[in-house]
Amino acid sequence: MINIAVTAEASDETRVAVSPETVKKFTGLGCKVVVEKGAGARSRFSDQAYKDAGAEIAESAEAAVRQADVLLTVRRPPLETVKTLKPGAAAVAIMDPYGDRADLEALAATGVAGFAMEFMPRITRAQSADVLSSQANLAGYKAVVDAASMFEQALPMMMTAAGTVPAARIFIMGVGVAGLQAIATARRLGGIVTATDVRPATKEQVASLGAKFVAVEDDEFRQAQTEAGYAKPMSAEYQKKQAELVASHIANQDIVITTALIPGRPAPTLITKAMVESMKPGAVIVDLAAERGGNCELTKPGEIVDHGGVRIAGPLNLAGAVPVNASALYARNLLTFLTPFIDKEVGELKFDWDDELVKGTLIVKDGKVVHPNLQPKKEVE
Ligand code: NAD
Repeated sequence: MINIAVTAEASDETRVAVSPETVKKFTGLGCKVVVEKGAGARSRFSDQAYKDAGAEIAESAEAAVRQADVLLTVRRPPLETVKTLKPGAAAVAIMDPYGDRADLEALAATGVAGFAMEFMPRITRAQSADVLSSQANLAGYKAVVDAASMFEQALPMMMTAAGTVPAARIFIMGVGVAGLQAIATARRLGGIVTATDVRPATKEQVASLGAKFVAVEDDEFRQAQTEAGYAKPMSAEYQKKQAELVASHIANQDIVITTALIPGRPAPTLITKAMVESMKPGAVIVDLAAERGGNCELTKPGEIVDHGGVRIAGPLNLAGAVPVNASALYARNLLTFLTPFIDKEVGELKFDWDDELVKGTLIVKDGKVVHPNLQPKKEVE
């Protein structure tokens, strides 16, 4: 029988790696799921709900993982927990593969097969296992809701007997998964929404959500999307033109949500200090790129900065601020990823090491860091 262990996260993580729904599915596939006591509490999944779905509750992390073939967590699991896994076991998490290299090497040294869910290839088959999408969508939603609650004015236009309340102007910078949901949420709340991106494909998406597209649409813009669907770093010349456009647009905005990222690089700076100073006091910026350095020059990760009455929030782990949904979706991402490798008849978890999803996400195996993106850079002659 396949043993799946789920441990509780550290105190700064609200999410959990299984939901009662996925416990039931795993159990139906012939697996035994052992959940550490209280692991789902911050996502409002009680031990009883897990038990009702067929899980066993363990008193400690150690007791949960003792027999496990696979350990499921949200964040990279602590070394002491991984060390108690039996040889040949697997660990699946949002591993932060570029963070804390020494710990990653130590994780490899345990011999565990470790999978980083954020490396899931962005191919159609992997869509329902894509944690970046499932979590970014919620973060985009929450960024707008948080901005609305910080903003001291109403968002929709209201015509009342006492006069008209104007609609808020909301500008979304970066129209990936988070940005698209931010546009949709801002529209639902009644804002006048504009959005910008460097990828031409986003123009139509913005229009289809009822927002106005604002961007420098030159030759470079027409070629700004990589084959994988991501943005390329833009030239200094493009950045200058973009900055001029943003400077004139942003001065009239009430709320700005920034989500612009380029894979493997620090976030591009799109809002300078001078641009912030051109905004009206009371305006709010929520910088979703804070974890990667921020899209605004004044962003401080994890803090709210007040600069002349303009507040700039740099939230970390916004998906974790809607843990009930974030955990439910993350849990389904894990279920989708693992299901093809669960052999119900034999009762064994057998990864296909040649599978594109396995190869794409496997970061440590047999004592080594194995992912190509994580190899030390070779000296170029
Ligand atoms: P991301 O988080 O890497 O970046 C967010 C957005 O920032 C992107 O739209 C990017 O173009 C934009 N950006 C980068 N530099 C910018 C700049 N200087 N100015 C303005 N905007 C800038 O992106 P993401 O949310 O991960 O989505 C990337 C792409 O992948 C999208 O096309 C999305 O539809 C696609 N996608 C595909 C799958 C799949 O097929 N499985 C899953 C998810 C996303």
